[in-house]
Amino acid sequence: MADGPFDLTAEQRALAELARQVAEERVAPRAAAIEEEDRFPEDLRRLFGELELMGLGIPETYGGGGAGLLAVCLVIEELARVSAAASLIVADHELGLLPVLLGASEEQKRAWLPEIASGRRLMAFALTEPEAGSDAAHLAMRAERRGDRYVLNGTKRFITHGNVADSLTVFASTDPEKGSKGITCFLVDRETPGLKVTKLERKMGLHGSPTAELSFQEVEVPVENRIGEEGQGFRIAMATLDHSRPGIAAQALGIAQGALDQAVAYARQRRQFGRPIGDFQAIQFMIADMAIGVESARYLTYKAATVVEEADAGRADWQLANRFSSMAKTYASDVAMRVTTDAVQIFGGYGYVADYPVERMMRDAKITQIYEGTNQIQRLVIARSYLG
Ligand SMILES: Cc1cc2nc3c(=O)[nH]c(=O)nc-3n(C[C@H](O)[C@H](O)[C@H](O)COP(=O)(O)OP(=O)(O)OC[C@H]3O[C@@H](n4cnc5c(N)ncnc54)[C@H](O)[C@@H]3O)c2cc1C
Repeated sequence: MADGPFDLTAEQRALAELARQVAEERVAPRAAAIEEEDRFPEDLRRLFGELELMGLGIPETYGGGGAGLLAVCLVIEELARVSAAASLIVADHELGLLPVLLGASEEQKRAWLPEIASGRRLMAFALTEPEAGSDAAHLAMRAERRGDRYVLNGTKRFITHGNVADSLTVFASTDPEKGSKGITCFLVDRETPGLKVTKLERKMGLHGSPTAELSFQEVEVPVENRIGEEGQGFRIAMATLDHSRPGIAAQALGIAQGALDQAVAYARQRRQFGRPIGDFQAIQFMIADMAIGVESARYLTYKAATVVEEADAGRADWQLANRFSSMAKTYASDVAMRVTTDAVQIFGGYGYVADYPVERMMRDAKITQIYEGTNQIQRLVIARSYLG
């Protein structure tokens, strides 16, 4: 949350304060154990549901908080300050539910969103495949219509919470010849016969946030679970990512803020050559640069969330929202990588060992440069928004 006079409403400020309190009192004491045990923290998922943090971006008519994207970002930021894995419970649920919010019919929204908003139905988002990462339009997963059902066959890879979510928004091709215009989106319950978890990834970071490979073999999905029309799936996926990238920027920002907090506290307390290391100009300059990065990332992240909200309300251009969303994710994640690396440096040898959280923060920061579109892809998007 901004310390200075950033233009937050009283409601947004109150939500950020609540999230900070929850982060400090309920998440921070668990962060090292979540890392160590590398198990999805079900208790935190329930807690976030009870505190109504899981449906903040969903309008009140569908049982959500109606608080908007910036509020969602503020909550993710505060949680990520102490645990990136915990923040991903909120961020990935948001990613998984956005296709419903953006593409589903009124009837589907009324049927599904109240349970999703309460957090009782945890969502995940399944786009990536073994041969379709950055090139997400070239999906191999097929969805074939047979009467009143679709039958899905294929593999999804790197699906956050793919083994613990209750439902997934899944993208598959209904018409391979049409390329991206042949992709369709479905809501699929995880317990559907034929859907199996075939692998859980061993990762550099984000321990406690499982990443699953999912195999779909003759998975039957009723026609009523198709989101949008056939062929609208790619557009829904891209619109989802425009809305979700500010959340990843917020996650990166939170990780960076957490590392900066740790580095400042350590530089005050650690003594060498008879004085606190914070007395040395070399350390002071690192802290100054870290702080400049964090504050710049904060303003760009909040701006991106605001521009996306404005575009949703028809008051801003979608091209602008797309540009800012990509800019914030790219900049904040690059800042998070740099700031966490510098925090490890300020801790010296203690930064490299697991007794202190900064090495975890450095490993967690790395993913923010990769998922929801790598930073190379984001730079392409940003450049194209200028060059056409
Ligand atoms: C922990 C984790 C969680 C994830 N969660 C999810 C999830 O919940 N749902 C989901 O659908 N996906 C998820 N992903 C997938 C993630 O979004 C992809 O890994 C990412 O988009 C990159 O795809 P890729 O790994 O296939 O890399 P590739 O696309 O193979 O890219 C490899 C390298 O080439 C570069 N590259 C590719 N194309 C270009 C180009 N045109 N120009 C310049 N450089 C290029 C990339 O930037 C990268 O550096 C997750 C991944 C991880 C690791």
